Amino acid sequence: MAKIRLEHVYKRYGSKVTAVKDFNLETEDGEFVVFVGPSGCGKTTTLRMIAGLEEISDGKIYIGERLVNDVPPKDRDIAMVFQNYALYPHMNVYDNMAFGLRLRKVPKNDIDQRVKEAARILKIEHLLQRKPRELSGGQRQRVAMGRAIVREPKVFLMDEPLSNLDAKLRVEMRAEIAKLTRRLGVTTVYVTHDQVEAMTLGHRIVVMKDGEIMQVDTPLNLYDFPANKFVAGFIGSPSMNFIRAKVEGAGDAVYLTGPSFRVRTNPHLAAPLKAYSGKEVWLGIRPEHLGLKGWTAIPEAENIIKGTIEVVEPLGADSEIHVDVGGTVITAKVDGHAPVRPGDTVELLVDTGRTHTFDVDT
Ligand code: ADP
Ligand code: MG
Repeated sequence: MAKIRLEHVYKRYGSKVTAVKDFNLETEDGEFVVFVGPSGCGKTTTLRMIAGLEEISDGKIYIGERLVNDVPPKDRDIAMVFQNYALYPHMNVYDNMAFGLRLRKVPKNDIDQRVKEAARILKIEHLLQRKPRELSGGQRQRVAMGRAIVREPKVFLMDEPLSNLDAKLRVEMRAEIAKLTRRLGVTTVYVTHDQVEAMTLGHRIVVMKDGEIMQVDTPLNLYDFPANKFVAGFIGSPSMNFIRAKVEGAGDAVYLTGPSFRVRTNPHLAAPLKAYSGKEVWLGIRPEHLGLKGWTAIPEAENIIKGTIEVVEPLGADSEIHVDVGGTVITAKVDGHAPVRPGDTVELLVDTGRTHTFDVDT
């Protein structure tokens, strides 16, 4: 096991493209860290720099206490699992897992022991004699994991390892990976563009955009205290609603107002927001923190947003309704049994303690 530390790491391609900018991170020993962000934000590049597969343009990378800037990949004590797990088609599962160890001249008995132990952990003991083409997608993914495990690395690096699997298998394998890495206690960096995968797997999540870190935090803190509008919109499903609103101070309280609403803000935001009195901000509200009047436990108080329903999407327990609020369409998650129809005028109650605000120029 080892900590990973990145200090002011940059990756430039030529003089124009900076794929990664001033990346700083220190993991805990045995921590599961997820890099998440939209396609092209620099996740793979950062992971490949940790692996040593990509030269770094500036900065320092440590694995454990060792500065690895000039250490070749094979000497970094890492194991990688990729999206296209590239098993050797002509080798059976056993040989696929043993191959890397043979290259390293690990004694035969050791290899046998490690392969069998990994196969047992991954529940693929019965598949050891099969060729990759005789396996399902999920089984192949397990073999790829097995190949990483037998190396007994200090660090696992995984780049979208589940994205070639169908939705159901992805959820199953996600749980498997969580169990496995917890059991092995190996420091893991896991790359995904899927925020649900990030939230369910990560002890901490690094949210990236355009080569830069937006926020590093636990899943719950990202959800409750997003550092900016990008993180707020990226984490959570369905996405947070953003409405332009004007700040109105009134005694100790601060209200955010618009043509068809007046919402009291989260009390802990009131003090800093006073400086914005009379100015515009983004009011951010998650769909699950809105409720339909008469169908929600959110107290009525004074926080009501009025609008007209455009679309109703029934999901069983809840429905997602899209509501036009003075030209902005927002989404609310409401009780699935509420009688809502397109064209209806509705009053949505807002959970005051769950409101967010962001600068308009973000
Ligand atoms: P992600 O994995 O988050 O989708 P990548 O790390 O693959 O993103 O890419 C980050 C950025 O670096 C992208 O804008 C991509 O086009 C650019 N990039 C990646 N590899 C190269 C390369 N070899 N030459 C030039 N630009 C590259
Ligand atoms: Mg990538």
